[in-house]
Amino acid sequence: MNDTPQKTNLLDLDMPELEEWIVARGHKRFHARQLLKWIHKHGVTDFDDMTDLSKALRAELRASAEVRVPQIILEQPSADGTTKWLLQLDCNNRIETVLIPDGKGKRNTLCVSSQVGCALECRFCSTARQGFNRNLSVAEIIGQAWVAARKLGDNRLTNVVMMGMGEPLTNLDNVVKAMNLMQYELTYSLSKHRVTLSTSGVVPALYRLKEQSDVCLAVSLHAPNDTLRNQLVPINRKYPLEALLQACRHYIEGDKRRKVTFEYVMLDGVNDSDRHARALVRLLSTVPSKINLIPFNPFPGTEYRCSPAKRMEQFSQILIKAGFVTTLRKTRGDDIDAACGQLVGRVKDKSRRQLVRLHAGSQA
Ligand code: SAH
Repeated sequence: MNDTPQKTNLLDLDMPELEEWIVARGHKRFHARQLLKWIHKHGVTDFDDMTDLSKALRAELRASAEVRVPQIILEQPSADGTTKWLLQLDCNNRIETVLIPDGKGKRNTLCVSSQVGCALECRFCSTARQGFNRNLSVAEIIGQAWVAARKLGDNRLTNVVMMGMGEPLTNLDNVVKAMNLMQYELTYSLSKHRVTLSTSGVVPALYRLKEQSDVCLAVSLHAPNDTLRNQLVPINRKYPLEALLQACRHYIEGDKRRKVTFEYVMLDGVNDSDRHARALVRLLSTVPSKINLIPFNPFPGTEYRCSPAKRMEQFSQILIKAGFVTTLRKTRGDDIDAACGQLVGRVKDKSRRQLVRLHAGSQA
């Protein structure tokens, strides 16, 4: 993977690690803060441009470190303002990252991938079809924020959702480090309220997440009972609903204002009846919850269809009447296959679409 394996990619280090790296080389700890600011806030990757670092430190950095960011190989703008970037990691691996502006200039949300492919076999997700290749490094995760921030300009990245390719809780250590890195004022200034991790329910890792992080939690529920969830989200066979909801309650314990967001993909004739809605109300009565209904985004070869608009409306009314804050997620970027569950990290099949090819390195 590395052309220069002897060099440390500074994007891989969180603040304590960067401090340690610098101190171990005989320099002052505070330089870590300067470096983080240059790299993340200003997007500078060349040590010679980091003008407030001493010459000696710059020479040391040139010799033994680098800032290696993911390369954009394809940029796909959607008619609705969403942009998907295909990023080349190493020779075999690509991932997708999606920027979703709110259209009002207030919020720019980045949907970040945590793995190449995914090992979980959720039946309605196209990333699952691709299988699992590998975990992303810290550099590859934070690198997605770096790329988006350069494209957006100063400090305009406002939210991150770990809802791209992969299951973030099966790459917990790297995901936590990257999420922590995003939250410094010196980097992307994203408060814990603006970073959301979405999981299909890897229960033991959810307990570990609570010890290491404090970000918002979203859970891909998709079914109100174990029988149906076992089919749709097979990890439920290992960690059934009762254990999952227990872990959710534990995650938000101690903060009365916090809620868990439950995502529920609307599948025609599968999980979208009034009976399912009422079962969902009963199930979630013991967890402070918000419910996010997601229209199913189809992909080639899928057996599912999205529920009709009227059905989704009626389903959401049952939840709202029962007192749940319920939103029906607007599908964004579906014309470029950038909507939930459509990320696959391939260029294949897309040659007929309108693409903007970028020169490597032009994103800086
Ligand atoms: N693995 C994590 C995060 C990635 S998926 C998780 O499962 O939460 C982000 C969200 O998109 C999840 O709620 C996922 O279930 C949903 N999703 C997957 N495929 C979809 C599709 N085809 N249409 C709509 N939502 C989908």
